[in-house]
Amino acid sequence: MKLFTIFGNPVAHSISPMLHNSAIKELGLDACYIRYALENGEKIADKFNSLKLSGANVTVPHKEWAYQKCDEVRGLAKDIKAVNTLVKKEGKIVGYNTDAPGFYKSIENFKNLEKVLILGAGGTTKAISYILREEGKEVTILNRSEKRLEFYKKEGFRVFSWNGFKVEDYDLIVNATSAGLKDDNLPLQKEMLSSLMKKAKYAFDVIYGKDTPFLKLANENSLTCKDGRDMLLNQAVLAFSLFYDEKISLKSIEESMRKVF
Ligand code: NDP
Repeated sequence: MKLFTIFGNPVAHSISPMLHNSAIKELGLDACYIRYALENGEKIADKFNSLKLSGANVTVPHKEWAYQKCDEVRGLAKDIKAVNTLVKKEGKIVGYNTDAPGFYKSIENFKNLEKVLILGAGGTTKAISYILREEGKEVTILNRSEKRLEFYKKEGFRVFSWNGFKVEDYDLIVNATSAGLKDDNLPLQKEMLSSLMKKAKYAFDVIYGKDTPFLKLANENSLTCKDGRDMLLNQAVLAFSLFYDEKISLKSIEESMRKVF
């Protein structure tokens, strides 16, 4: 039997076990997916080995530790420097990032996308900004304060803090902040956000399961909108596919996970 887990701290709220166990059951596989509250991220590889895991997902705050501690990093995770999926392959722990392609798949219906404005410069922005750039989009990152922008500036992204930003045309505006998650805040001053939205076509909020002030304003401005629900599902589908060496069709994994989502 294969054993999988999600490593995080806290991890009790994670819906990953529900999604992955549904896929295991629906696809008739001999496996089990548990959750593991890991306090010290530095120990992630040791824990992976001592639990004799076949694979794992990694959530906040251990994605950077997973990147550092796995034996090999593949794909875009090398640039993002954060790993959310670990897979045992020929005795080695191989790290991937499925947040990035998970996000990109969830906006596949957004056509003629060239210029994207990402609000926020935290961990989630890393995955989103790299995949958009890799796909040839022009990415601008706007954050409330300066500090977190330094990383992106070094990586060659066009960045602004609230001081010094001027409204321009963007096709897509992404809310990758936590504004609206546990409060009713907009991620930017209303007047400026409204001006941006009047020129945009699409709005995406990484927050899911909630009609956030950002999405409400986007709807008022008649933008095509999407929340973070499919991003969450897609990263799980892609991780599960990697657990099984990409031998199970993405469609059947997605269908089995959607039954409980
Ligand atoms: P971080 O804590 O790494 O970063 C938070 C960012 O939000 C910072 O840039 C911060 O700006 C900004 N911010 C916070 N409050 C405000 C505010 N009131 N106004 C403007 N900016 C604000 O967060 P993460 O990147 O880890 O997570 C961001 C969001 O993404 C969360 O809501 C999380 O739930 C969601 N998420 C969704 C996923 C999905 O699959 N759909 C996956 C992972 C995360 P500053 O630097 O100035 O503090």
